[in-house]
Amino acid sequence: MGLLEGKNALIFGLANERSIAWGITQAFKREGANLGISYAGEMLERRVKPLAEQVNCKWVEECDVTKDEHIAAIAGKAAKHFGKIDVLVHSIAFAGRDELSRPYYQTSREGFKNAMDISVYSFVALSNAFLPILNPGASLMCMTYGSGAVKVAPHYNVMGVAKAALESSTRYLAYDLGPQKIRVNAISAGPIRTLAAAGVGGFRDMYKHFADMSPMRENVTIEDVGNMAVFLASDLSTRVTGEVIYIDSGFNIMGVQMSGKEEQASNQ
Ligand code: NAP
Repeated sequence: MGLLEGKNALIFGLANERSIAWGITQAFKREGANLGISYAGEMLERRVKPLAEQVNCKWVEECDVTKDEHIAAIAGKAAKHFGKIDVLVHSIAFAGRDELSRPYYQTSREGFKNAMDISVYSFVALSNAFLPILNPGASLMCMTYGSGAVKVAPHYNVMGVAKAALESSTRYLAYDLGPQKIRVNAISAGPIRTLAAAGVGGFRDMYKHFADMSPMRENVTIEDVGNMAVFLASDLSTRVTGEVIYIDSGFNIMGVQMSGKEEQASNQ
């Protein structure tokens, strides 16, 4: 029997087969969850519907998280279709390309607001909208990049600041919803080649550096994130809340980084 058998799980932020949300969707399917998928706009419908069919998901709904009426509508539709919800995954972020290539101090007011609205506030707004239909024991989760939130990842800029706010929001939501036995956690994945990642200046170098420098000398996959999401969604993590859990081949534990070659040379 799958770990998520009988659980109703909604996933926000599926864009294509490279999306972290797709790794999570497939892992949830494997573990027997009843799936619902949400995507950002009409443009994506063409790409998302065939993916939903692959996992036999019948509930596929549009939700632009910048619009309060979209959020209210999707919560209403979910209530009608599923009754109650056990798992909600927020895998959404946005920052303008300019903001991710110029120095951070040149961030525009509009760019700052957009990044915060779409990447942070939307998690708060979704939690609030779905609260009336969350089962006790429900699990909410979001995706962060801790290396850019608590430290500096060059070019990550306003997105790093947004992720810091998202991680903090995770803790405040966990505090608010704890008495109702609803858990809220963040997954911090190492760099993965996705659509969103392509917008970050110097991403290719960061991706390569990561594989060279992490203790396990390996990049992270959407399947890895999917498996962690299963753990957080399942009853195995019953009393885990407010955490930022790293899946990064150990990258974040390093204080001083040396590539494999440099290390070998210093050992000789
Ligand atoms: P992705 O496939 O591009 O997913 C990002 C999703 O956010 C897309 O589905 C996108 O839809 C959606 N989105 C943007 N604006 C939206 C809006 N107004 N309303 C609703 N949805 C909106 O990239 P990803 O890398 O899988 O990103 C998923 C999450 O993982 C993000 O929070 C990201 O920061 C995080 N993360 C990524 C990495 C990485 O290296 N890739 C590492 C750590 C954490 P559109 O395509 O229509 O904009």
